[in-house]
Amino acid sequence: MRYRIRCLETSQILVDDGFILVNPAAAGPALLRAEYQASQLNIRPEQPGLFRFADWLPVSRVLPSAGYPVTFRSERLASVLGLENLYITFSGYWPARGAFMTTGSFKECEAYTVCARYPQDSQEVLVVASAGNTARAFLKVASENRVPLVVVVPQSSLNELWQEKPLQPWVRIVAAAGDSDYFDAIQISDKVSVLQGFKAEGGARNIARRDGMGTTLLSAATTIGQIPDCYFQAIGSGTGAIAAHEANLRLLGDGRYGHKLMQLHLSQNSPFLPIFQAWQTRRREIAPMDTTEARRLSQAIDAKVLANRKPPYGLTGGLFDALSAAGGHVYAVDNTALAQARDLFAASEGCDVCPEAGVALASLIEACEKKLINRQAVIMLNVTGGGRLNIKKDLNPQPVIADLLIDPDDIDQAQLAGMLAQTRQEILASLTS
Ligand SMILES: *Cc1c(COP(=O)(O)O)cnc(C)c1O
Repeated sequence: MRYRIRCLETSQILVDDGFILVNPAAAGPALLRAEYQASQLNIRPEQPGLFRFADWLPVSRVLPSAGYPVTFRSERLASVLGLENLYITFSGYWPARGAFMTTGSFKECEAYTVCARYPQDSQEVLVVASAGNTARAFLKVASENRVPLVVVVPQSSLNELWQEKPLQPWVRIVAAAGDSDYFDAIQISDKVSVLQGFKAEGGARNIARRDGMGTTLLSAATTIGQIPDCYFQAIGSGTGAIAAHEANLRLLGDGRYGHKLMQLHLSQNSPFLPIFQAWQTRRREIAPMDTTEARRLSQAIDAKVLANRKPPYGLTGGLFDALSAAGGHVYAVDNTALAQARDLFAASEGCDVCPEAGVALASLIEACEKKLINRQAVIMLNVTGGGRLNIKKDLNPQPVIADLLIDPDDIDQAQLAGMLAQTRQEILASLTS
């Protein structure tokens, strides 16, 4: 076995079936973690895209791909900020920098890893709920690699799902109708996942998702030659930050990149601040937020992808544990600051970045102003998405349409089961033809 799985609560070892998300024997909610036989990371540049990091990915195959997170030392932005060792890890489409993620965000990392973990002979249809970036990435990767997939998105984010190539019939888009939001999409996807022949992809609980996102740190550490002192990322769920922390732990085991735990500097877009608020008072619990409030707050923020009201925070191995172990800071960034940060990035580094990356950069600016970091520190800025203008120019992205439109307030489980049984039959037929 190239890797095994450990339950972070009971320490039990489990065998991967390509889908497992939780240890049924755990008493409370807890993440599983992959443990790789290779204690040292051997970069494999001969393997496509992200699979250069395959030693530390829970995958059963390698998929054709081009993009992976690229890291470079910043000169102009660094000098504006007065930082001596600023490194940018960029996920998106920026050919001049060697960045070729055609769906434009680091969600492509997890899509490749999850699809390459998916057992090739399986008939289960993966179910993913998304506010946009995740669905766009999974649609592309599953379509190109014959992985049966249903994504559930709010109707209002359909225009975020543009694709470079036409989608194959084994991937389907379910839209939550009307003014539904991400939470409605999650609720529908929960109902679909329990149907016969469907499997929840699992989000943060999927080891493949986290280790795919962890490649951002693997890219940084292997480029810099050491584990950074501080890690900056905008978070909604915080899965990327948990993943980076876990990659940090693996790099300690490797031994060639130093022996430190990097501080986590994580940021949310105010006023949508559940993690910021919980960490302020070092609480393990996220305050419950009702649907009306969540809608109101998510409408008020520009970095929409960060509106997650049930992040994997308090569970064993989750974000609270990562922040407690590594130390760090959670920032609240408003729309004005994020817009200024995006402008600064474009002006200094020469590429557009998504609003979420603007949040991360704004938090770095705040850290400099408040002297929360020192100028010599080795800083990794995780630019989680960017290059939309390059994509528009080079790739001619096309809109997609929903296969099913579901009104979340007017559907019962039996109706849903009927519609999805039909969808699954069509998917399986398309895979055998
Ligand atoms: C999903 C996403 C984030 C937030 O990532 P999490 O670690 O899951 O909170 C940040 N930026 C972009 C571009 C994203 O798509």
